[in-house]
Amino acid sequence: MTSTLDLEKNKSKGGRPPSSIWKDAIRGNPVSSGKYHATCKSCNFSWSQGNISKLEEHFANYCSEAPGSIVRKYLNKILEREDKVNKKRKIVGNNQLTMTKVACRNLGV
Ligand SMILES: [Zn+2]
Repeated sequence: MTSTLDLEKNKSKGGRPPSSIWKDAIRGNPVSSGKYHATCKSCNFSWSQGNISKLEEHFANYCSEAPGSIVRKYLNKILEREDKVNKKRKIVGNNQLTMTKVACRNLGV
């Protein structure tokens, strides 16, 4: 499972570790904020504007050379992320709707 070191890192970054993907892909020059030239270490696929979620999707869905452990790791990550999004319904600029929905649900229970 996850090592203590990883847990510590996640905590300090507010639960969103930005860099673990770079163990499995090579980060090249930054293109813009959050986007990099990147190359998959497993299959040598390269992105001219790779961001972390694109790379995670590659490992989870598309990479033909990545070992099963890596595929599973990123599949879990993506699932977790979608789970969080579904739970929080975090819509940028539409917090009020979210609050109302939560309040309604609470009243309903
Ligand atoms: Zn790959």
